[in-house]
Amino acid sequence: MRCTICGRREAIYTRAYSGESLCESCFKKSIIRKVKAAISKYRMFEYDDRIAVAVSGGKDSVSLLHIMVEIEKEFPKAGLVAITVDEGIKGYRDEAMKIASKNCQQLGIEHLTISFEELYGYTLDEIVDISRDTGLTPCAYCGVLRRRAINILARRAKADKVATAHNLDDEVQTIILNMIRGEPLRIGRIKPVSASYGGFVQRVKPLCEVPEREVALYAYVSGIEFQDIPCPYAETALRNDIRNILNRLEEKHPGIKYAILRSAERLRPYLEKAPEVEMGICKICGEPSVGEICQPCQLLIKLGIIEN
Ligand code: SF4
Ligand code: ZN
Ligand code: ZN
Repeated sequence: MRCTICGRREAIYTRAYSGESLCESCFKKSIIRKVKAAISKYRMFEYDDRIAVAVSGGKDSVSLLHIMVEIEKEFPKAGLVAITVDEGIKGYRDEAMKIASKNCQQLGIEHLTISFEELYGYTLDEIVDISRDTGLTPCAYCGVLRRRAINILARRAKADKVATAHNLDDEVQTIILNMIRGEPLRIGRIKPVSASYGGFVQRVKPLCEVPEREVALYAYVSGIEFQDIPCPYAETALRNDIRNILNRLEEKHPGIKYAILRSAERLRPYLEKAPEVEMGICKICGEPSVGEICQPCQLLIKLGIIEN
């Protein structure tokens, strides 16, 4: 089958939701176009932003880095830096760090890293041991502690924005997860551009309109090296079920993931009217916080790593 766009080359992928069949070159260009469209639709960047791309080493974040390098060529006043958090997960993150750094070297991008050990005094593996009797699961604290680490590293990098690699599937899964968990108001917080508060570097999601399988195909046809083994602590049971259901629905009813994303967008103005949280400073660590003690410090107290 010939490519619908150029009509010359052999198609390698059919996009059921649009009816297009694309050759490798037109497919890659279409992904760059999609990302650029999302960046301009949601006004993610200023022309002279210094952008920190959060790179874990997985397919989404490494592809995002490659895509941002392409797009940045058109914005000579903008700057890119890659940032990686080393949670300290033996046999997993150490490998991913090497892959992230190799990609940065290939692309000529500055790469800054920070570790849980440096910030909190312990690696994630050690915290998992410490937390055995607390009833907390690794992902529950890893996510919160990593979020803090990314913010600190982004400030160190003097970045104006942090670009994270959440794709369309991630966003739609989170929307459905919030519904299932009885927290529909949280859907208002799933935004392509986060609100800006003092001390928090704003986060943007340039891949939010690109389906996961298209990010994977982009990485594959571009010959991008990434880590594809899952984290040993991953507890994705419910999210995985939702992923499978959504993929089945998408196959039968192409475009359904975009439809869910659009519904959430239409809801957002109503949900945003929910009372705004007041930001202050954590009395323990001095980082921005909603209450007197920030979420990361609350966790560290619970884990017995710091004292109240
Ligand atoms: Fe951390 Fe969980 Fe992600 Fe592993 S899967 S890196 S423990 S949040
Ligand atoms: Zn083509
Ligand atoms: Zn704190």
